[in-house]
Amino acid sequence: MKIGILSQEPKCYSTTHLVEAAKERGHDVNVIDTLRCYMNITSAKPSMHYKGELLYDYDAIIPRIGSSITFYGTSVVRHFEMMGVFSVNESVSISRSRDKLRSLQLLSRKGIGLPVTGFARSPDDIDDLITMVGGPPVVIKLLEGTQGIGVVLAETKGAAESVIEAFMGLNVNILIQEFIREAAGSDVRCFVVGDRVVGAMKRQAKEGEFRSNLHRGGEAVPTKITPLERRTAVQAAKIMGLNIAGVDILRSSRGPLVMEVNSSPGLKGIEAATGKNIAGMIIEFIEKNARPNKTKTRGKG
Ligand code: ADP
Repeated sequence: MKIGILSQEPKCYSTTHLVEAAKERGHDVNVIDTLRCYMNITSAKPSMHYKGELLYDYDAIIPRIGSSITFYGTSVVRHFEMMGVFSVNESVSISRSRDKLRSLQLLSRKGIGLPVTGFARSPDDIDDLITMVGGPPVVIKLLEGTQGIGVVLAETKGAAESVIEAFMGLNVNILIQEFIREAAGSDVRCFVVGDRVVGAMKRQAKEGEFRSNLHRGGEAVPTKITPLERRTAVQAAKIMGLNIAGVDILRSSRGPLVMEVNSSPGLKGIEAATGKNIAGMIIEFIEKNARPNKTKTRGKG
C-alpha cells in the first residue's frame, strides 16, 4: 500500500516509528508536510498538490495534526477524504476532539463517566458555577489548551473567582471542573486502536504538581487497567469517531472519568512504558480497513 503520514515533524519519534513500521510491513510510505499540501477545490475532481506535484495514488493517510494547525490540517485531511483516500482518523473526528467542551458534551450524552464540568460566559454566573461543580478546589481549563498549559487548580473560592474573572476578561473560553483529588496527580492514558486498548500507562505528576502531563515533568509507568476502564476508553474513542485515540482517564472514587480524547496521541511514552510496537498495530489496522472511499463521512459534517 502507499501510505502518507501527515506531519510537520518528520524527525519526531512518532513519525519515524510509523515510517519504520510501515516499511517493515512492506509498504511504500512518505512523510507529507501538512502545511505544504495545497488543494484544488474548484474542479469537479478534487486534487491535492504538494511542492509542485500532484498527490494522487495514496491508499491511506495517517494524520498527525498538531493543535496549532488544526484548521488547516483538518482541511487537508478532509480534502484527502473527498478524493476517496482512507484516513485513519477522519477530519470531523479530529475537529471534535480538539474542542474539549464539544468532546465532553458528546461523551456526556452517551453516559461516559466525566468530572462534573461547567461552562459559562457571564462573570455574574461565576458564583453558581463554582457551586455547581461542587465548590472549591476547582480546576479551570482553557478550552483549547494542550500539554497541561492553561490548566489551573484553584484551591479556594476567592482564587477560583479571580482566575475565572481574569480569563473571562481576556475573552477566552474556559471550563470549570470538579477537582478529582483521589487521582493524586495521576491519570491513565489508554491507547486505542480500532476497538481495542492496545496499551495503557499511568502518568504520575512530579512532586507538588497536580498535572501529570509528561511535558510537565510527569513520569510514565505501565499499568493494568480494569475491564470498566477498558470499556470506557474504547467507547469514548468510538463516540468521538476516532480509530486511533489516546483516552485520558482519571481514577476517581466513583470509577473512571474521561478527561480528554486525543486524536494524535504520541507513541514514544506509551511504547516505552509498555514495550509494545504500537506503530505496527496502527499500520496493521490500516491494512485491514483501508479501502478506497471507505471514509464514513467523506468529509461531510
Ligand atoms: P491538557 O489537554 O492540556 O493535557 P488536561 O485536561 O488533560 O489538559 O489536564 C492536564 C492534567 O491535569 C491531567 O493530565 C491531569 O493530571 C490533571 N487534571 C486535569 N483535570 C483534572 C481534574 N478535574 N481533577 C484532577 N486532576 C486533573
